[in-house]
Amino acid sequence: MYHILKQKRKTVSIYVEEDLSVVVKVPQHLSKKHIDEILASHKQQIEKMIAKKESAKQKSDWRVTNSILYLGQDREIEWVSAGSGRAQIKLTDHKLMIALSDQGNLEEAEILIQTFFKEQAKTLFTRLTEKYTSLLGLKYSKISIRKQKTRWGSCSAKGNLSYNVRLLCAEEKMIEYIVLHEVMHLRHFNHGKVFWEDIEKLMPDYKQRAQYFKHFGQDFIL
Ligand SMILES: [Zn+2]
Repeated sequence: MYHILKQKRKTVSIYVEEDLSVVVKVPQHLSKKHIDEILASHKQQIEKMIAKKESAKQKSDWRVTNSILYLGQDREIEWVSAGSGRAQIKLTDHKLMIALSDQGNLEEAEILIQTFFKEQAKTLFTRLTEKYTSLLGLKYSKISIRKQKTRWGSCSAKGNLSYNVRLLCAEEKMIEYIVLHEVMHLRHFNHGKVFWEDIEKLMPDYKQRAQYFKHFGQDFIL
């Protein structure tokens, strides 16, 4: 599927989203005919981009790998029957046990997994937020968990913190950096020199932790 976005710009940019839709940004004055011509001439290139994105996605998709990355550790999924009981997920040492009332029902599994990870995220990110706000003597309003493509977290002017549920794939130590970063925005609403100095005081290796997300972030698929 194509999304054509007319923008104040001079060049055409084409890229593929996580859901494999193609986003085409074009200058405002470009006619439909002209856009179609551009797309036709880039057809092969676009198909290649989609295939590449698709194979990268598959490598981390639990439907294919039968495992989910949880706190930096690959957990193999063990499917069990919930019998007449409730569908549920349990974390064991190295596995993720998924009990479905209708085994093999991927839609049921998907909903269960999404709900489970959101709850886990809320608990863990709240605990870490409390840790750093109390350490720094800061107050936040509320925490929300979202599923986002690229953003790991944000902090609003009202003191609302938001975290990406996909962070749960990362090691806890690395998640701490994102939490500290957002919490620090309650004190400095910018990325100025003092902002980074204050982060470094509490987390001297914060740069390495930030790098971790640049390297592995695209594999964090839930
Ligand atoms: Zn920031």
